[in-house]
Amino acid sequence: MTKGSGPGKSYRKGISLIEVVERFNTEEKVEAWFIQQRWPNGIACPKCGSLNVATVASRKPSPFRCRDCRKHFSVKTGTVLHSSNIPLRKWAIAFYQYSTNLKGVSSMKLHRDLGITQKSAWHMAHRIRETMAVDGNRFSGPVEADETAARKRTSTGVSVSTPGAVRLARQPLPV
Ligand SMILES: [Zn+2]
Repeated sequence: MTKGSGPGKSYRKGISLIEVVERFNTEEKVEAWFIQQRWPNGIACPKCGSLNVATVASRKPSPFRCRDCRKHFSVKTGTVLHSSNIPLRKWAIAFYQYSTNLKGVSSMKLHRDLGITQKSAWHMAHRIRETMAVDGNRFSGPVEADETAARKRTSTGVSVSTPGAVRLARQPLPV
């Protein structure tokens, strides 16, 4: 958690909650945004790294297929979102909450704000906190990824050890 702001400050400036809600009003829009964040240079296979990827939008929950190694995957594969049944819209809002509240967000708040069970909220909060503890700018590959390795980055800020890293939001969301 970044300190250095005034003691009374408990939020960051950036996109407003209403903008997040309005902009990400369908799963498809959130998914498209996650894809753009994760693979700004084109969808890459999380297994072999190939860019030779076929998209079959109707093939949920894994709409992408690597033509080289034949792995089927989605934008969630290999991230903290993997195996989560919580809609991406709720994840986006949860990450938003964490990115804008410097003093943290309780799982009880997520439970109430997102209309998810306390158990789901607890898991969600846990994953987000772990991810942000490792790397404040994104949530990346398996949350149990080695912390030291996860900190290695190229000059462009791209994580080396977690090729599937998804940049998200401690910074204001791009509009
Ligand atoms: Zn592949």
